[in-house]
Amino acid sequence: MQRTADSKTSLRIAIQKSGRLTDKTIDLLKGIGLRFDDYKRNLLVKCRNFDVELLLIRDDDIPEYVQDGVCDLGFVGANETQEKGADVTVLRGLDYGVCRLSLAVPKDGNIQSVEDFEGKSIATSYPNITQNFFKERNINADTVTISGAVEIAPRLEVADAICDLVSTGNTLKANGLQELKSILESETQLIRTNKKLSPGKKQLIDKFLQRMDGHQQAERSRYIMMNAPEEAVPRIKEIIPSLKSPTVMPLADNGMVAIHTVIPIDEFWIVMEKLKTEGATGIVILPIESMIL
Ligand code: ATP
Ligand code: ZN
Repeated sequence: MQRTADSKTSLRIAIQKSGRLTDKTIDLLKGIGLRFDDYKRNLLVKCRNFDVELLLIRDDDIPEYVQDGVCDLGFVGANETQEKGADVTVLRGLDYGVCRLSLAVPKDGNIQSVEDFEGKSIATSYPNITQNFFKERNINADTVTISGAVEIAPRLEVADAICDLVSTGNTLKANGLQELKSILESETQLIRTNKKLSPGKKQLIDKFLQRMDGHQQAERSRYIMMNAPEEAVPRIKEIIPSLKSPTVMPLADNGMVAIHTVIPIDEFWIVMEKLKTEGATGIVILPIESMIL
């Protein structure tokens, strides 16, 4: 019998060993209070204060490791999970590693639209996603699978076009290519195995998710403190899109109160401007470490 992650009690999480997702994923794990010893030198790292161990591997391998239950969870780009067609559950979408898988063609070449790909060849590290895209449109296009430096394939006449990950588009431009169409929008996701898990493991995953959600909500929020005229409190309460009703405390100054609350970061400037017009002073904004709602 294959020894899966569930034959041990600690939660095994796959993350990219070294690449674009590594630092952000480690920051996130540290942000929810997990502490690790040297993760740069080891393949399997035990967490010191949570029942978790990290498996550090290539991002391409993560979907299958999670699918097969070798790892319970994984942090990986949607592009990899889709390419592998892995049978896993996406638990959360995370806002890093954002990119798109795009068709790109030589500038001023003879491919100007998706239909022009008929009979052409495309170099890519994502043959399955690319082939599906063309199959759905009844276009015959060949894929040439290349694992790195896909963008030089047209110049080497290995293929007529490419299908590759793009974030800024600078690499394409530097190689005389132009982006024609995005065929997949991708971001990092937290994925979970669909293999049966023990109740203990399920509980650990719930605890892990609760911490992660609290941390992410906190990142999107700020703690705000201000002084304001007491008579302005009803109007200020309307301005602040607070999670719960704000804390209002009387100050030694007659007719003045201190107000403490939490605001979403998106509405930060709008709220600030409105508060000032209502006579709020001494406005202090603080970051929040985590929140449990
Ligand atoms: P590994 O050695 O782990 O296989 P890699 O070279 O395949 O590494 P990276 O270049 O580190 O992988 O990219 C990891 C992931 O980062 C991609 O699969 C994708 O989800 C995301 N990503 C975000 N922006 C880009 C981009 N511009 N180019 C490539 N990947 C990107
Ligand atoms: Zn990879």
